[in-house]
Amino acid sequence: MAERKQLRSINEVWEDLLWPGGGIMGPDPEQSRRHKAVAEVLCCIPEEDYQKLSNELLDQFQWFIPHHEIRGMVYPFFADIFPEEDPETKLSLKPYAQVIYLSPVLEKSAYDIVVAIVAHEIAHIVLGHKIMVGAEYETQEQEAFDLICKWGFEKEAKKHHAGCKRRESLEETMVRKVLEPVTGKESVRLDKTSQKREPLDVPLKRVVDFKDQDVTIKRDNIDGPIKRSQ
Ligand SMILES: [Zn+2]
Repeated sequence: MAERKQLRSINEVWEDLLWPGGGIMGPDPEQSRRHKAVAEVLCCIPEEDYQKLSNELLDQFQWFIPHHEIRGMVYPFFADIFPEEDPETKLSLKPYAQVIYLSPVLEKSAYDIVVAIVAHEIAHIVLGHKIMVGAEYETQEQEAFDLICKWGFEKEAKKHHAGCKRRESLEETMVRKVLEPVTGKESVRLDKTSQKREPLDVPLKRVVDFKDQDVTIKRDNIDGPIKRSQ
């Protein structure tokens, strides 16, 4: 198992402009559990990937770590990704912001889970993964998992992964209890009028898609940001 050790100080991370929010008083990892995990991950990422983050990737992502007491607000995210046009279709995605969102819910999670989630999201950035994915989703998840193990977060990654699987199967069980027939594998719903069971028009997987804090937007759920170039 790859060991991790602290390779740099939090002040170095702050000076490299990787710390979320900056602040004139310097970085404060104690301001939340999420910030503490961000500090731990950024201080321990091996040098090569850290350099990649602080040089070529610095302007390609932003943090969004809202305070748990903020109940709602309008928040500006400036575009940092400007996709190239497809030479054949002459289509391109609109410019968009790549944002690592860390939910206030994480303040109540076990610390090693928070660390795993922070490391996992940063791994997606380092690996240059697509935000809007189709068939590549599972591959990208596996690559992110493998990379954080290489960084020394294997214990946390496995615990997080096991938790996701447990939650996924729990949710599937709950969905099935509500929706499934007595026999057969196909997901069905009860037709109220005839008591006949009909196939669901949404596959079960869709119902449990948002199984975790790590939500990647799937391309087939989006009809937004495609534009025709001039
Ligand atoms: Zn992921």
